[in-house]
Amino acid sequence: MLIVKRIDEFNEAKSKLKGTIGFIPTMGALHDGHLSLIRKSIEENEFTIVSIFVNPTQFLQGEDLKSYPRREEADTRICDLAGVDILFIPAVKQMYGDDELSIGAPARRGYILDGAKRAGHFDGMLQIVMKLLNLANPTKAYFGKKDTQQLLLISQMVDSYFMDVEIMPCEIIREPSGLAMSSRNLYLNQEQKDRALALSKSLQKATQMVLSHEMDAKYIIEEMNKILIGVDSIEYIAITDRGLKQIESVVVGNTVILVAAWVGQTRLIDNIWI
Ligand code: AMP
Repeated sequence: MLIVKRIDEFNEAKSKLKGTIGFIPTMGALHDGHLSLIRKSIEENEFTIVSIFVNPTQFLQGEDLKSYPRREEADTRICDLAGVDILFIPAVKQMYGDDELSIGAPARRGYILDGAKRAGHFDGMLQIVMKLLNLANPTKAYFGKKDTQQLLLISQMVDSYFMDVEIMPCEIIREPSGLAMSSRNLYLNQEQKDRALALSKSLQKATQMVLSHEMDAKYIIEEMNKILIGVDSIEYIAITDRGLKQIESVVVGNTVILVAAWVGQTRLIDNIWI
């Protein structure tokens, strides 16, 4: 595996890859969720590129940019063992100049749910994903449904800007307990991890309700609220269609149920596509 840190090195390494390329952008502290994306890419492409970049422009003032887990050595080993061809780990200066132009998230989809409390987060996310996709120029790029709003906004960006890449949505990988894997789970102690289970349990409850033909969004949200009693605060529970429009009634095949909540100082998100 080639590890590159500079754009010129990256371009040179990339120019030697003759064949289909799968790309997985990450912020590192890799876990089995990331690994599932990497494995899928290796299966489906001749070459696989992973990037690790903790993108400053998607963190708001007061968020965890400084404390975000950084585990370059372990991450490198994980990628190497998995069979990644190029690992790209740029410094901030490689990715950003001063007086940058920014790409704005759409006014509705970019500023609801995670974008409501984290106003501007998705502008920074789209800015870096655009840069990374242009650099890696992959055949396919892999993103987790764990970050559904991110995934939908990236798909929209790729469509709107006529970018020549196939966006591949990947299933959420969970701990055996049901907790959705996340680099931010490293912030949780055992007691907090136990309380964090309320997120996936609330989604399981919602799924059970739908399976028993309860489609009323308001009622499902009420029941989810009861299960989420143990978290420190609920940021949102939402039932939307696949375009992130709130809906009153679940439509199987075109619904996402999403939840965001705080446990201690950690903000957690989870969702299920129904
Ligand atoms: P991150 O390093 O958190 O920016 O995540 C990089 C990519 O991995 C994103 O596309 C995430 O949606 C995806 N990802 C993170 N956690 C999971 C998970 N538990 N299951 C599947 N994909 C995930």
